[in-house]
Amino acid sequence: MSLKRVLVTLAVVLGLMVGTPTVQAAQDILFGGASITGVYYQVALQISSLMNKHQGDNYNYVGRPTGGSVFNINAIERGAFDFGVAQSDRNYQAYHGEADWDGKPVTDLRSVFSMHPETVMLVTREDTGIKKVEDIKGKRINIGNPGSGQRYNAQDVLRIYGIDQEKDIRAEGLQQHEASRALVDRKIDAFFYTVGNPSATVEEPATSVDIRMIPLNHDKIKEMVAENPYYIMTKIPAGTYKGVDYDVETYAVTATVITNINVDEDVVYDMTKTVFENLDQLRASHAAFKHLNPEEMLQGLSAPFHPGAMRYYKEKGWK
Ligand code: GLU
Repeated sequence: MSLKRVLVTLAVVLGLMVGTPTVQAAQDILFGGASITGVYYQVALQISSLMNKHQGDNYNYVGRPTGGSVFNINAIERGAFDFGVAQSDRNYQAYHGEADWDGKPVTDLRSVFSMHPETVMLVTREDTGIKKVEDIKGKRINIGNPGSGQRYNAQDVLRIYGIDQEKDIRAEGLQQHEASRALVDRKIDAFFYTVGNPSATVEEPATSVDIRMIPLNHDKIKEMVAENPYYIMTKIPAGTYKGVDYDVETYAVTATVITNINVDEDVVYDMTKTVFENLDQLRASHAAFKHLNPEEMLQGLSAPFHPGAMRYYKEKGWK
């Protein structure tokens, strides 16, 4: 037996003799956000901070920046993360085996609750001359990194407006914080992004350059929205971003908190309960969370509820 082993054993035996209480280590929980300047990262950070404040003896929550919705769904499927944030449309596709998950449904995916609405947006600088979607032809456009939720939304919009991603534009796949910078630095002409409002991702470029936001309201977008329960038509109100003093008509998804059926029921119950019992704190932690309310937070979810979340909703008589 090595000296270290002997000392450790001795310490344990002595500890038992003097009746030292056994200290249960807090359980590490990983929560996947997205780009550091987006709102998902704030969801991961703010819920982690609520949990560490109220349940710090039991849990050690860590919010992580990630590639976005698709990355989070796949990491949760593999068990690499306990929780993550993902767009309602991507959730639906994953659970039902469509799009990126064609023929490979993520059947272990479970819903916890919905967060804020996210609008699909196309943001450019005034000086590019882009005033409508068709004007992006021949330009350098960020459509979102692989792993993000927005990339698929951007591809839907391109298809609907008859724009070929390979031939008609120079498509980039930057992470969103890089894209915001690249717009200011004139390395790209516009970016697509699907995000809650207000978001630093748009606020930051809007303070450095004159930006313009392009409506995404083609009749075929409206048809797509009508056909899918996870989309709604909406408006980004005038004044949300500096220099954008007009309403921008577009469509929206919902940011949802997801987990895996194999995550312990108590872990999901404790998180759900802590969030709902401290909802005022969560609402106050970011402007995009201001309107969160329990009724809407139980809607817009495409995968079944995790039993831990359901236990809390039943206790409250919400389900
Ligand atoms: N909707 C984006 C995605 O799924 C992330 C937006 C955000 O970070 O707030 O990848």
